[in-house]
Amino acid sequence: MKITFLGTGTSQGIPIIGSKHPVCLSANPKDKRLRVSVLVEWDNYTYVIDCGPDFRQQMLNANVSKIDGIVFTHEHADHTMGLDDIRPFFFKQGDIDLYAHKRVFKALKKRFDYIFTSKEKYPGVPSVKEHIIKNVPFQLGNLKVLPIDGLHYRLQVFGFRFKDFAYLTDMKTVESKEIKKLQNLEVLVVNALREEPHISHFNLEEALDFINKVKPKRAYLTHISHHLGFHDDVQQNLPENVFLAYDNLQITI
Ligand SMILES: [Zn+2]
Ligand SMILES: [Zn+2]
Repeated sequence: MKITFLGTGTSQGIPIIGSKHPVCLSANPKDKRLRVSVLVEWDNYTYVIDCGPDFRQQMLNANVSKIDGIVFTHEHADHTMGLDDIRPFFFKQGDIDLYAHKRVFKALKKRFDYIFTSKEKYPGVPSVKEHIIKNVPFQLGNLKVLPIDGLHYRLQVFGFRFKDFAYLTDMKTVESKEIKKLQNLEVLVVNALREEPHISHFNLEEALDFINKVKPKRAYLTHISHHLGFHDDVQQNLPENVFLAYDNLQITI
């Protein structure tokens, strides 16, 4: 299985428009972060988790020519606003498979009514196939994917386990029965916003505590704010098996 970090930034991305913060001004490519998303590839399957406003650029960066579907963690704009840019895939492949909680589909239908409508579609508008996810395993290609349920302040969010790989973002609270689903992982990806506490996201300390509970072989941090600091400085102070993800990083499991 190959994982490509398409974006590792929090909702505004890094740099933030107009910001003079030193991390936003950094010349290190590892300090430039598009909105959070990953590409998960195995056998001949290619799935994207989330479809934020940088989706087009991310598909170009990772040279993706075909996708088997998009899986959504939740409906926030930084995870959904790139949906119109599925058009090149739709033109080649037909309806694009989307996987999401039914509440997320409700939000997508409001924002992208023209994609979901069945009557008098404007020419060139893409079409999608809805697959509603509940908190039970679901099929993606030849794999059963296990949803991990969590809370993002009060909003329900899904993380996903693909065999020995799990991806959790925008988590603030995860119940112990959900943490039990994460035993014996090779790689865990989890959100770590900044050092200061935040109402709806793990800060660094909470992310490291979570990693200690899950005990994966390796962990990668994502959904990062410029307030966390320069990539290279933060990485130096992390435990041995914990890494700060960065855009375009690829790992094989
Ligand atoms: Zn987010
Ligand atoms: Zn969010």
